[in-house]
Amino acid sequence: MKIDFGGVVDALPGLVWTANADGRSDFVNRGWREYTGLGLDQSIDHGWQTAIHPDDLPSFIEAWDLVRRSGTAKEIDARMRRFDGEYRWFVLRPSPLAEDDSRNRRWCWLGSYADESASADGRLRRLLDAIPLQIGFLNTAMVLEFANLKSLRDFNMTFEQLNQWTSSGIIHVDDHETTYKYIEALLSGKTYTAELRFLHPNGAYRWTRAVCVPMRDAHGNVVNYVSCQVDIDDLKQAEALLAAEVKLLEMVAQGEALEQVLDALSRHVEELCSGSFCSVLMLTPDRKRFRNGARAGVPDACHDFFAGKAIESGDDPCSLSVVEKTSIDTADLANDPRWQGSPWLAAMQSLGFGSCCATPIISASGEVSGVLAIHRSDPAAPSSREEGVIDRFTKIAGIAIDRAEMDAALHARERELREALAQLSDGATPRRLETVRGRVHPDGLHLFDGEMRRRLEGKGGDFNFRVITPKGGLKHLRGIAQVMEHIEGRPIFMGTIQDITESKLAEEALNQARSELAHVARVATLNAMTASIAHEVSQPLSGILTNANTCLRLLAADPPNVTVAAETARRTIRDANRATDVIQRLRAMFSTKPPTMDPANLNDVAREVIALSMGELRRAEAMLQTDFADELPLVRVDRVQLQQVILNLLLNAADAMTAIEDRPRTLLMRTGLHDGGSVRLLVRDSGTGIDPAKIDRLFDAFYTTKAKGMGVGLSISRSIIERHGGRLWSENNEGPGATFSFSLPAAPD
Ligand code: ADP
Repeated sequence: MKIDFGGVVDALPGLVWTANADGRSDFVNRGWREYTGLGLDQSIDHGWQTAIHPDDLPSFIEAWDLVRRSGTAKEIDARMRRFDGEYRWFVLRPSPLAEDDSRNRRWCWLGSYADESASADGRLRRLLDAIPLQIGFLNTAMVLEFANLKSLRDFNMTFEQLNQWTSSGIIHVDDHETTYKYIEALLSGKTYTAELRFLHPNGAYRWTRAVCVPMRDAHGNVVNYVSCQVDIDDLKQAEALLAAEVKLLEMVAQGEALEQVLDALSRHVEELCSGSFCSVLMLTPDRKRFRNGARAGVPDACHDFFAGKAIESGDDPCSLSVVEKTSIDTADLANDPRWQGSPWLAAMQSLGFGSCCATPIISASGEVSGVLAIHRSDPAAPSSREEGVIDRFTKIAGIAIDRAEMDAALHARERELREALAQLSDGATPRRLETVRGRVHPDGLHLFDGEMRRRLEGKGGDFNFRVITPKGGLKHLRGIAQVMEHIEGRPIFMGTIQDITESKLAEEALNQARSELAHVARVATLNAMTASIAHEVSQPLSGILTNANTCLRLLAADPPNVTVAAETARRTIRDANRATDVIQRLRAMFSTKPPTMDPANLNDVAREVIALSMGELRRAEAMLQTDFADELPLVRVDRVQLQQVILNLLLNAADAMTAIEDRPRTLLMRTGLHDGGSVRLLVRDSGTGIDPAKIDRLFDAFYTTKAKGMGVGLSISRSIIERHGGRLWSENNEGPGATFSFSLPAAPD
C-alpha cells in the first residue's frame, strides 16, 4: 500500500514544519497554514519566524541554534500568532530527520497547544532563560532536572553533558573538596555558597560563585535544589592581581633580595596568565648584554640562550624590545617573518614554544633595566586582561630593580666608607668608649664628654682631643664619630681616630716661628725707633738731672729754699715716672711673653702706642690727629699684639709721608663702632697712597718697597687681627694717601 505521507502530515493535529541545518524551512503542513493563515511561500526560508511572538523570538532563535549545534532536541515554548492575530501558547518540539549526517541534519518541528499549567511552566522557563545567571534545578539525588539557557550556552554543552557535572571534569580538580562540602551541606538542608572553577568552552577554568537553596514542600521536606551561579572570574583575577601586587611591593619594601622578588613575580605572572611561562631577563651593568633574573617555570635552556646575549643585535623579541623600548609581541612564532632563520626561533621551537611576548622593564630614570618575557606553547597573543597583568608586573619589576640598584650603590658606598675608615683607623676593632675616655688628657675630659653627648644627639663634625699614651707620651687625636645603631639600648659609635700629633706639632712650630718672626719684626721696629725712643727717655732723664741739681742748690742755700726744693723734687719724681713708663711699655712690647687674652679698651691701647711713637712721629714731621669714639665696647685682645699692630700701621703711615713735601703730612687715627657688633680703628695718612697694581701684595710676607724694610709687618698684623676674629684691610683715600683699618669683635658683656 502506498502511504500518502504528505496527507498524513497534513492530517496531524498540530503545526508541522521542516527545517534545514541552516535553520531555513522548506515545508509547512496544513495545520500550520490553517492556524497561522500563512501560505507556503510566506512560510518557507525564514518566513515561519513571523508567526512567533516577537518577545519570544530571540530566545527561540537562540535555543534553536543550540539545538542544531549540539544535535540534541529540546522543547521550546513560544506564543504563535493565529490567522486572526491572536497569540496562543505552543510547545514546539524539534526532532532530527536524518541521524547519520549530523552536519546536514534536517529537523522536523511539531507544535502543539500547551495547556494552561504547561504554559505557566513555559513562562517560568522563559523567564529563567532570560535571566543572565546560570540557573539549574537539582533533585534530591543531585541529578540536574533543569538548566537554563545561559547555563547551556556558557558551557556550550547539552543538558545531558551538563548533567555529568560531578564527574565530567567540568569542575576543577582542586575544587572537588569544596564540591563535596557543597553537596554535603545541601543534603543536610542548608543553603550553601561556594566558589568553584568551572571549565569553559575555550578550555579555561573560570571562577564561579554558586549559591544553592533547598526548596521544600508543604511538609518541610526538601524536594528540589535551585542552584544559581554567577561568573566571578574577572573579580577573582582582579583580587589575585591586587594581592600579588601587594605581596611583591611588600617584598620590595622589606628589602628582600632582588632574585627572590623577581622569582615570586614571575610565578605570579604564570598564575595570573594561565598556560604561560614567565621569565625576567636583566641587563649587565653596561646594559649591553642580558643576564638572568628569574624564570619561574621556564626551562633552563631558554635562560641559557639569553645569558650573555648581546642586546644591540635586536634579532630576537627580547633584545628588540630593549632596543625599541616597546613591547614586542610574537603571537605565532613559526609564521612570524621577523624571526625566520634566527637562532632564537630555532631555540624556542626546540623548547616547544609557539608564541612570545617581550615587554621592556623601564626604570624610574626612563632607562630599560630588563625584559619580562612570556612564552606559551601555543600560538597566542596575550588577552587584554593579560596585557594588564604584564603592564602592572613590569612596573613592579622596574621598582624592584631600581630599589636593588639603589641598595647596591648604597652598600658599595658604605663599604667604601668602611674601608676608608678602616684604613684611617688602622683596622676597626670595637672599643669600649670608657677605654678611650680613660686615656683622654684630664684637661680635655670635659670637652671630650661634651663632644660625645653631641654625637648622641645626632650632631656630627670632627673634634680634637689629647690622650696620654701608655708610655706617658702625649698624642693629639682627631675623632670623627657617629652613632650607627643601638644594641640593647647601648649606642654603637662608628668612627675613626686619626693621629694628628705631627700636624699639631707642625702647627705649633709654625705658630712659634710666626711669633718669633713677629718678635724679630718688633725688634726691627725697635731698631728703627731707637733714636726717637732714646730721645724720649733721655728727655726725662736730663730733666731729672737738672731738677736734682736745682734741688741740691736750693737746699744748700742759706736759708734753704725748702718750698721750691720740694717742688723740684716733685718734678724729678714726675720725670722719673715718665721715663719708667716709657721703659715699661718698651719692655712689654718687645718681650716674648706668651699671648694672654684680656678685655681692653681700644682707645687706651691706641693711646699707649701713640705715647710710645711720639718721638718717631715728630722726627717724621707728621701731624697726628685723633678722633676716639666715647664709650667703645671692650675687645678681648692680647694687648701687646694689638699694640704691635697699631704701631705698625702708624709707622707705615709715617713712612709713606716722608717723601711728601708739597702738602701737610697729616695723620688721622680714629676709632668707632663698625658693622654692629664690632669695633674699628683706622689710620689715615696723606702719603704716597698704594699702587693699585700692588694692592693685593701688601699683606704678603716679605713684600716691601722700602730700602730697609722687612716686609713682614702687615702680614703679621693681619694674622694677629684674624686670630682675634677680626679683619684688616687697606684702601686708597679719595684724596692723597691711604687708609688702613682693622675691626675686632666686641667682647661679650
Ligand atoms: P715694611 O713696612 O717692612 O715694608 P709692611 O708689611 O709693614 O712691611 O708693609 C709692606 C708694604 O706695604 C710697604 O713696604 C709699603 O710699600 C706698603 N705700605 C704699607 N703701609 C702703607 C701706607 N700707609 N701707604 C702706602 N703704602 C704702604
